[in-house]
Amino acid sequence: MSKAKEIDDRFKKFGTVSFTAITRTNDFIDYLEANKVAGTRCKDCGMAFFPPRADCHQCLASNMEWFEVSGKGKLITYSRLQYAPVGFEQDVPYCIALLDYGDYKVFGRISSDLAEEEIRVGMEMQTAVNRLPNGQLNYVFVKA
Ligand SMILES: [Zn+2]
Repeated sequence: MSKAKEIDDRFKKFGTVSFTAITRTNDFIDYLEANKVAGTRCKDCGMAFFPPRADCHQCLASNMEWFEVSGKGKLITYSRLQYAPVGFEQDVPYCIALLDYGDYKVFGRISSDLAEEEIRVGMEMQTAVNRLPNGQLNYVFVKA
């Protein structure tokens, strides 16, 4: 008797629209459920990855550990979207941005709670877990 292997599809919980359910970095969702945003770091060379990756492109190892994206990142750039990709039409306008955390960067969306007049390149922001009304999870940037 063989039992069918359970499919690890935790990733379908991520984002407004789910594009992929199965990846090798599904623990990302468990971290979100625990209110943490996480990336991976190569145990061999120390390279940090966000979004998390299962393989290191620098030393080609697959020896990763998770780390929490915590503390403050610096806003490098942002852009206000008037037209959204498929699935995000209801959300516009919103701002996408890039935060610099030192040895890694995080790409994402600025919280709609923050007025655009308050956004300044160079300001400190934090990455926070966001629960959507439909039960999906994502993360947004908030003022530090
Ligand atoms: Zn490496």
